[in-house]
Amino acid sequence: MNKIYLDYAAATPMREEVLEAMKPYFSENFYNPSATYLAARAARQDLEEARGRAAQTLGAKPAEIIFTAGATEANNLAISGIAQRFSDGQILVSAIEHDSVLAPARRAGAQKIPVWADGRVNLDKLAKLISDRTVLISVGLINNEIGTIQPLKDIASLVSSTRQKRLRAGNRRPLYLHTDAAQAPSYLDLHVARLGVDLMSINGGKIYGPKQTGLLYVKSSVELMPQIIGGGQEFNKRAGTENLPGVVGLAKALELAQADKSEGARVKALRNQLAEGILKLNNKAQINGPKKLYAPHILSVSFAGRDNERLMFELDEAGIECGLGSACSADSGEPSHVLKAIGLSDELARATLRFSLGAQTSSAHIEKTLQALKNIL
Ligand code: PLP
Repeated sequence: MNKIYLDYAAATPMREEVLEAMKPYFSENFYNPSATYLAARAARQDLEEARGRAAQTLGAKPAEIIFTAGATEANNLAISGIAQRFSDGQILVSAIEHDSVLAPARRAGAQKIPVWADGRVNLDKLAKLISDRTVLISVGLINNEIGTIQPLKDIASLVSSTRQKRLRAGNRRPLYLHTDAAQAPSYLDLHVARLGVDLMSINGGKIYGPKQTGLLYVKSSVELMPQIIGGGQEFNKRAGTENLPGVVGLAKALELAQADKSEGARVKALRNQLAEGILKLNNKAQINGPKKLYAPHILSVSFAGRDNERLMFELDEAGIECGLGSACSADSGEPSHVLKAIGLSDELARATLRFSLGAQTSSAHIEKTLQALKNIL
């Protein structure tokens, strides 16, 4: 049976061009970029060229790109790196961040910024939470469970006006804005100056690139404490022999993701076809997240009275692969913090599925998914 894959927010298949670009670095060009003979210096050059391309794609300087093993590490470096560098500072993170932001934030004693029912950060509450001690605000660009696109430009202007007030008051403490953009590169403009961010996390495995690759954009003025130490790589911000095939693949995938502006409209139309179809076939279904300004590829649906794990297995049997909207953490068994933060009951959170679409999704796939749902419901 040909499977229909609707879990692109979890993982994406690698693009052929990306794989081709990576191949030489597994074999003939295997050298350690830190070695000094000629072939290794060529590897170093290729590494720096990939860094340059990633930087150019994001409108950053090459020295502002720190390659990591995925978005989890990039988020940890941003949050813990700043928490440790400014240990008496306060950190604010949105209540619906990914766990790789929330866990280091919790350890640093961060406060949560409440969100509205559509997942957007409550800007008035954020403004009230900012204190003279605040050093970092972290708000993810696209939420991975409900597809909320955050008003990052509004948050950036709040940050900018706070900085000006601080300057006038003689408060020299920095205030940085970080965004976890792991879900965004295929759909949103990630030019760092246009977004107004000081730090940004990117993930290769969600953009048709290799897993365990990613980067943290760190504006040159930002100070942070490295988390992986014991080598001078990545400008002393992330030690360890560079993953050259991974870096080359990530740079290529990022470039391709940002170049293709038509994919968003195509995927959004399919997402809406699925949303409308589901609402028609089940009057208990409810779509979670924003009505306007949502990510093109994510659809969170609650099926009141149903158990999402059972639904997911039944869909899997019918050849449809989708995600659980409320991924329970293995040790706590708690329903999704994202769905709870936007006001869903535990019961409804446990009745939620996440469909996420991507490059291979077609209208025929959506029709087949709707037919399978109709049979199951
Ligand atoms: N941030 C967001 C928004 C994500 O969706 C994910 C993956 O689900 C991550 C971070 C973590 O990515 P990884 O586990 O590949 O490091």
